[in-house]
Amino acid sequence: MQAILSDVHGNLAALEAVLDDLYARKVTRVLCLGDLVGYGPQPVECLELASKFDIVLKGNHEEAVLTEAVDFNIRAGMAVNWTRERLASDPGGEKRMILLRGLPEQHVEEDKLLVHGSPREPTREYIFPGDARDAQKMAALFERFERFCFVGHTHVPGVFTEGDGFAHPTELLKNIFLFEDEKAIINVGSVGQPRDNDPRACYVTFDGDSVVFRRVKYDVDKTADLIYKSEGLAKSLGDRLKVGK
Ligand code: ZN
Repeated sequence: MQAILSDVHGNLAALEAVLDDLYARKVTRVLCLGDLVGYGPQPVECLELASKFDIVLKGNHEEAVLTEAVDFNIRAGMAVNWTRERLASDPGGEKRMILLRGLPEQHVEEDKLLVHGSPREPTREYIFPGDARDAQKMAALFERFERFCFVGHTHVPGVFTEGDGFAHPTELLKNIFLFEDEKAIINVGSVGQPRDNDPRACYVTFDGDSVVFRRVKYDVDKTADLIYKSEGLAKSLGDRLKVGK
C-alpha cells in the first residue's frame, strides 16, 4: 500500500502525526506532491523528514522560494520570504536549495500521474471542487493522463471522476472511494493546512483499486504557537489551522 500526501507547509507536528499513522498501516511507499514548505514555522525539519520519502515533487511554494513569489497574496508572499531566509540561514542551507532545485514537477508510474496542481500546469493550476461543473476545463485535464491523476494544491480533498462531478470524502462511505474502470483525479488534501473546515491533517492511502482519505489529529496549538512566535509569519496563519480554513 502507498501513502500519498501533499501540502505539509512547514507543519512538523502534523507531519509527524501523519507519519506515525501511515507507518502503523503497513504503508511501503510514501509519495509527496509538494509544498513541504511555506506558511508554517518548521520548513527545515519537514524537508529533513521528507528526505526518506520515495518521491517528492516540487510545489508552487518551493518554486517561489527558489525564484520569486508571483501570484501570491501579501501574507503568502511574506511567508515565502521568511521561508527562504530560514532555509538559507540554517547550516546546510546551500545543499538544501540545490536539492529543492532538483525536485521534479511531475512523476508517472504505471497508470498514475502525480503532480502538485494539475496535469496541465503541474505547479500552478488549481482544480477546485466547483471546477467539476466546467466541462471544458475537466475534459482538457482528463485527456492528459491515462487513469489516475493525484494532485494537492487546493488543500481540499476529494475525487473528481470523468463526467461525474466531485465527491468530498465526507460524502463517501467510510471515506473510501472504490474504483471500477473510471478515470479519476484524486486530491489528497493537505497535511499541514487543511481548508475543508476539518483541522485534522489529511492524507490518502492507495492500493490500486481504492483510495482511503485519512484524517489525523495533531497538536494544532503547538504549530500555531510557533507561528505566533515567528516574526515575519502572519498570526492569521496560526489561527486558520485551528478551524481548518
Ligand atoms: Zn499548498
